[in-house]
Amino acid sequence: MLTGVHFLLTYKCPYECDHCFVYSSPRAKGTFTLAQITTVLAEARKLGTVQTIFFEGGEPFLYYPLLLEGVRRAREMGFQTGIVTNGYFATSVEDALLWLKPLQEAGVGAISFSDDLFHSGSEEDTPAKRALAAAQQLGISCGVISISPPTVTYSEDNETARGEPIVGGGVRFRGRAVERLTQGLPTRPWQSFTECPYENLRDPGRVHVDAYGNVHLCQGLSMGNLWQTPLSELVRAYQAEKHPLCAPLVEGGPAELAKRYEVPVGEGYIEACHLCYLVRRALIRRFPEYLAPRQVYGLL
Ligand code: SF4
Repeated sequence: MLTGVHFLLTYKCPYECDHCFVYSSPRAKGTFTLAQITTVLAEARKLGTVQTIFFEGGEPFLYYPLLLEGVRRAREMGFQTGIVTNGYFATSVEDALLWLKPLQEAGVGAISFSDDLFHSGSEEDTPAKRALAAAQQLGISCGVISISPPTVTYSEDNETARGEPIVGGGVRFRGRAVERLTQGLPTRPWQSFTECPYENLRDPGRVHVDAYGNVHLCQGLSMGNLWQTPLSELVRAYQAEKHPLCAPLVEGGPAELAKRYEVPVGEGYIEACHLCYLVRRALIRRFPEYLAPRQVYGLL
């Protein structure tokens, strides 16, 4: 049952982090208009199950008036709201209050701040920390999202001397992370990735929508296009078993996706998403409606 719609308000971002799975950058295109947001909100309400609307990116504060009005309209329609930001705008706590107070007055429910080495290097006093302090002063419910560079540890309960390698740190190997962060990491055979570990593709609880109309079940894996078929109709008609990419994924994970469409694979992959992303990228021309936008795959 779909309870959350997350707007990728823009793909643009002042940063260009190595781990970003939607390839955001200052040059990225794809930003909602207010009219488009209003259309999507009306469709979300028609579904009757959606409770929460999130505004993310890219960096949603780059289009601040649009973000503020989006939160206002979502609240007026009875939705709970949230924002994910890297807090780049917080030159000081005092100044961050100027940005956050109108959002508090509009009734924003929660703000999550991305604060880690990828976003701010090793600085102690990061923009995200300043923004977090301001949000806390205003009594806004807050969280912190922190991803570490990949680490490798070894399990002990294995026949091999050092055990099975486990890659930690929280990076999901999709998008730019595949281009920038895979070097030297241990891999496992492609046939071992027989399920999707992170997304409930059979019964998705939330989707991400972008200005191009893509309804993402996972970044770059689209249910369909909401500018061609209204969101409420798309969601009601969706069945994973009938979706050309989700069907193999729910049946046997990324390994089955590769087998089903006879995509040439390498010997090893770091984790399921690493294999899934590369197989999907190889299938873009065959399924342009469902594997979009191309920029999320680092393609123009
Ligand atoms: S990349 Fe593939 S395996 Fe990973 S969460 Fe998305 S759909 Fe699942």
